[in-house]
Amino acid sequence: MAKNGAMAGDPPQASLLGAAFSAGDTPGLEGLQGSCQQCRRCDLAAGRQQAVISRGDPAARLMVIGEGPGAQEDASGRPFVGRAGQLLDQMLASVGLDSERDAYVCNVVKCRPPDNRKPTAQEMAACAPWLAVQIGAVDPAVVLLTGATALEGVLGIKGGISRLRGQWHPWQGRWVMPVFHPSYLLRNPSREQGSPKWLTWQDLKEVRRRLEQDQPPPPTL
Ligand code: SF4
Repeated sequence: MAKNGAMAGDPPQASLLGAAFSAGDTPGLEGLQGSCQQCRRCDLAAGRQQAVISRGDPAARLMVIGEGPGAQEDASGRPFVGRAGQLLDQMLASVGLDSERDAYVCNVVKCRPPDNRKPTAQEMAACAPWLAVQIGAVDPAVVLLTGATALEGVLGIKGGISRLRGQWHPWQGRWVMPVFHPSYLLRNPSREQGSPKWLTWQDLKEVRRRLEQDQPPPPTL
């Protein structure tokens, strides 16, 4: 059985991430760094030091998807290594998940947007095939979408992170949950009950429960 619960031999499900690479020229996970480093599918190529692909374990059942690289990520080549990434690591650890061992961490766009602005819809669409390669190869059972941009880039839902966070979305045979972005939590540090940080902690406990259950979502019509 695959990590997402699909039976071996099930036909691959159509990606909702937009155009995929045509069969035959689909790069593997191993070649992704080199392929993205050469990529000029959008204008973000002009400002990058390097394409930022992933950290963590490609065999993990949890995939964490964020927005895009910031300055520290662009310099280091690793996603989620700044203050927001450190908070993400701490919050995952608080529910018993190690971001390097239990998760594969990546972003919607692989190159740093200038001035840390949100990537445009065109940039997200241009980079979507690379993310589709990652999702296909990692085959996560559970996907955590951190923030509104990841929610838009993966599920195509604009806005509504406050309304949709903490809710499960069955998607391509996987469980997907949007949560607040750790950058937002850094700006809202209260841990009081009902605060964004407290809510995210509840969401991550639910993610942990879901991983333990190991049950794929029912097929959708
Ligand atoms: S952001 Fe994605 S699509 Fe744009 S240049 Fe970088 S790798 Fe290519």
